[in-house]
Amino acid sequence: MKNALSYGELRSKVEEINKRQYDYEPPFLDVVDQILDDSEGKHVKNVLVEAFEKLLSQVNVEIDKIENEINISSSCKSGCTHCCFFPVIMTRLEAKLMILYINQLPEERKQKVIEQVSSYVENYSSEINDIKQINFKEDDSFKLKYKKLGIPCVFLDQQTKRCTVYEIRPIPCRTYVNYVDVSVCSNEHLPKEPLNFEFMQRFYIQGMDEVIQEILEVVEARSLGFSYPSDAEEVNYLPILLQEELEANLK
Ligand code: SF4
Repeated sequence: MKNALSYGELRSKVEEINKRQYDYEPPFLDVVDQILDDSEGKHVKNVLVEAFEKLLSQVNVEIDKIENEINISSSCKSGCTHCCFFPVIMTRLEAKLMILYINQLPEERKQKVIEQVSSYVENYSSEINDIKQINFKEDDSFKLKYKKLGIPCVFLDQQTKRCTVYEIRPIPCRTYVNYVDVSVCSNEHLPKEPLNFEFMQRFYIQGMDEVIQEILEVVEARSLGFSYPSDAEEVNYLPILLQEELEANLK
């Protein structure tokens, strides 16, 4: 474990990252090739879930490579949940893939996650309505407004302070990383210091698109279990999408 950086040191490291000569696309496409090569005989839903998990995971592999190359180490600690109170904005497709993944978990864990999500949607219905009033498409201060509401993520286990779906946590949860003193996250709603590696999101999206297009070469669109590309184009806050998906599945 390396020491936390000062803000000045962090800025020099950011310059190193920006100067890096590296093509992010090939490693993500390698993951796609590997998934498609191994897909024979597998159910479409299993291939989709595998692609979803592995392409998300590749984002962390790439962040690890950067950290090793420029000799930095995250100061984020297990049990620190500050970023689990930020808005997570994602596509309806990702929400559906998360549900698909949860439905494939071993029974005990699956029931635990489903209970957590169901009770959250019930207990936080008024807060979810508050979230609906914050327009992330037009309001530049949406992050601050959301964070000030103090609403935990639907997947945060508030007893253990852990993410219940850690291996499929969305892109914002992977790409927001602190390298300076951790106290910056408790001192401010929106600290300026943490780095955001969100530029990698497009390689993960491109990878998922490649997998889905390949699947559509051999099966009908209705076998996917979602509408493509419309579900990949619709974005909203994670709890709203989950609430809508749960309601749609109960009808
Ligand atoms: S998905 Fe997990 S890591 Fe991301 S905000 Fe929710 S609880 Fe935190």
